[in-house]
Amino acid sequence: MKIHYSDILGMEKPVFEEGLEYAKQLDTQDPIASYRLKYHIPKQENGQEFLYFCGNSLGVQPKSVEKYMLQELKDWQNLGVEGHFHAKNPWMPYHEFFAEKLAKVVGAKPNEVVVMNTLTTNLHLMMVSFYRPTANRYKIVIEKGAFPSDKYAVDSQIRFHGYDPATSLIQLEPRAGEETLRMEDIEATLRQNGEEIALVMLGGVNYYTGQYFDLEQITKIGHEIGAMVGFDLAHAAGNVQVQLHDWDVDFAVWCHYKYLNSGPGSIAGAFVHQKHLNNPDIPRFEGWWGTNKETRFQMGPEFEPMASAESWQLSNAPVFSMTPLLASLELFDEVGMTKLNQKSRLLTSYMEYLLGQIDSDRIRIITPSSSKDRGCQLSIQVKNSDKALFNAITERGVIADWREPDVIRVAPVPMYNSFEDVYRFVTILKECL
Ligand SMILES: *Cc1c(COP(=O)(O)O)cnc(C)c1O
Repeated sequence: MKIHYSDILGMEKPVFEEGLEYAKQLDTQDPIASYRLKYHIPKQENGQEFLYFCGNSLGVQPKSVEKYMLQELKDWQNLGVEGHFHAKNPWMPYHEFFAEKLAKVVGAKPNEVVVMNTLTTNLHLMMVSFYRPTANRYKIVIEKGAFPSDKYAVDSQIRFHGYDPATSLIQLEPRAGEETLRMEDIEATLRQNGEEIALVMLGGVNYYTGQYFDLEQITKIGHEIGAMVGFDLAHAAGNVQVQLHDWDVDFAVWCHYKYLNSGPGSIAGAFVHQKHLNNPDIPRFEGWWGTNKETRFQMGPEFEPMASAESWQLSNAPVFSMTPLLASLELFDEVGMTKLNQKSRLLTSYMEYLLGQIDSDRIRIITPSSSKDRGCQLSIQVKNSDKALFNAITERGVIADWREPDVIRVAPVPMYNSFEDVYRFVTILKECL
């Protein structure tokens, strides 16, 4: 083979070769290929693995999760309440075991991140603190076609404060005939409405198109116009390399069941920038797990915040929904976001290359073609909303997902998908076309 993995690793537009043999060669040269073996890839009835491309929706299970879960069950059996202090991983400070590793995943300082609740809950809690509308400045900016839960959350926050979403919500919309947003248009909207915008809250990577926004630039402009800036990183965390602290983002929230492989409905995450920690002007909804841990068990009546995102915690740790994340973060920590990102760019570009070889006008990729504007998801638009194509590939052992009205989302996840997976998927798609 002429083209070597390391030659194309840093290329903005890598060049590839055709054929299954080439895909297999890339796999043998992939430095993190062995991590696939640390995950359960779901199997078909005939015992063969599915071609699993749905890590953007529910990541597969790390094999180590079982051991971690059994440990908690055993500690509960043997120790009862004493497990709070004497479990292998004591439950009392359980949330603290995540901060350091998770901070690396989202580019934060350990005291800026916390695992708690679920995603939409955290989005509300963050808006309680960072959406503080006034008579002149009360608008929220979101992307049109945001994930519905985010839209419901911002609409209801606007109403909760006595405003009307019809006049208080600005939705960023692509130009006619385009699928994704242009940074210049985002900037123009922010500047035109600058004095009225209280909060800019976008999905870091749009769930539908897979577009990864320029979060650093949006944060900068948001601050220039005097707004708070927060992101929903559901499709970004563990997928793209964000630097929340350095980019000066005010807050962020995300879930861990997508790219972070922690199981259905598992515990979510939140980030609060250091500059807001210990700031008495930022109000929050409070609970006992947010108060100073040194004095928490004196059970006093006054809340004493800590200089940490932990102060946004309400309740004691839901250990069983957190345990899989402990197992998963260990693997993310071993590999690191840099290596994952390098492979991700190659793997996704490879899929894009193979899809480009298909001679059919029935499909079209709507995800941006530049690596810096996307993560590992490609959204394939199907002409005439023809779901039969999706059904056909599903029948052939591909797990992807269909999003109304007309898109098949596929996510070649660098942690466990191979170049061969990608090759086989595109071959099946081609045959079904
Ligand atoms: C997956 C996802 C959600 C789901 O919210 P939950 O509270 O975890 O059910 C919300 N918003 C976005 C952008 C998502 O991608």
